[in-house]
Amino acid sequence: MAPFRYHQEQQPDMAMAGLPKSLAASQVRHLAEIAGLPEDEAAQLDAVARRYAFRANDYYLDLIDWDDPDDPIRRLIIPDLAELAEGGQLDASDEAANTVVRGVQHKYRDTALVLTAGTCAAYCRYCFRKRLFMRHNEEAARDFEPAFDYIGRHREITDVLLTGGDPLVLRTRRLGPVMKRFAAMPHVRTLRVGSKVPAFYPFRILDDPALLDLIAGIVERGTAVYLMAHFDHPRELTPAARAGILAVQQAGGHVVNQCPLIRGVNDDADVLAELFQTVTELGAPQYYLFQGRPTAGNRAYEVPLVEGWRLFDTARRRCSGLARRVRYSMSHATGKIEILGIDAKRIWLRYHRAKDPALESRVFACRRDDEAAWFDDLRVVH
Ligand code: SF4
Repeated sequence: MAPFRYHQEQQPDMAMAGLPKSLAASQVRHLAEIAGLPEDEAAQLDAVARRYAFRANDYYLDLIDWDDPDDPIRRLIIPDLAELAEGGQLDASDEAANTVVRGVQHKYRDTALVLTAGTCAAYCRYCFRKRLFMRHNEEAARDFEPAFDYIGRHREITDVLLTGGDPLVLRTRRLGPVMKRFAAMPHVRTLRVGSKVPAFYPFRILDDPALLDLIAGIVERGTAVYLMAHFDHPRELTPAARAGILAVQQAGGHVVNQCPLIRGVNDDADVLAELFQTVTELGAPQYYLFQGRPTAGNRAYEVPLVEGWRLFDTARRRCSGLARRVRYSMSHATGKIEILGIDAKRIWLRYHRAKDPALESRVFACRRDDEAAWFDDLRVVH
């Protein structure tokens, strides 16, 4: 594959032309449109939004407590001047190295990842794939035929993960044929849909019976459907969001949750414990808590690994056994590295998934470094 091309500008608004109607109608694309944000602040933050795309919607903005400057929902969606600091990479996990045809990454033998859309319903400030939303990025799948061809020929692939840009920004009449085509491949046993739409705009699910029929039809024909939801904070679990989860479950889909650990959003053991416990009670247990990748613009959202482990471990201890299934992991270029524990001198890690099969399940230790926020900052000792 040729190297990806980036441009420090957003994709044009035209990219939203195919959005489901209710979602398109609620879009907020300019900071100046936000009533809760003072005019001068909106003008100042515009420089950030010009570098890293901004998008929100009325429903999600209504979750913000505008009287609290440290409100976690605000932090998640409203730009921060600190994003302009230099450092980090746009593709911090070297996803380019796993890209086999346009829109398809094949890193682990059994799982292929399809970048299904070039946009999201709104943009998380800490996004690790913000490069996708920049003008001239050409990573997301366009006509899907190369993806069908590649995955059809690779019979070792049992799981197809449709991921972000968010698959649920596509209208069901566009997404449906794509999901059905993958599901019809005899070797594909599970279709995963990675989406923050259940948090950003649950009405995309609740107002679209065709989407639920699509899931039900695929499940009935024997392919499992997993919605990989992305709730970062318990306050996102509104009645509408809970109803969205239930609707997918009633259609026969499974739901799990995964999210990164983000400074100022969920870097609090009480918040994490409440999140893990609540999603478990909703039948959408936490699958991963991700360490934030060292992506350009994301330094202010980072939490060092040692601090992250303490928060994670404290939170997990407050949960029932069912809510403790979550793994604290780094999606590193070499694999999914789980943080197992920390002692006075070492950080203990394990390859939960490894790009090199020889490393699979390997447990190893690195010298403890309380400032380190990523695997590349650590030194392996054994
Ligand atoms: S939903 Fe995922 S891909 Fe989309 S902006 Fe958020 S982190 Fe990025």
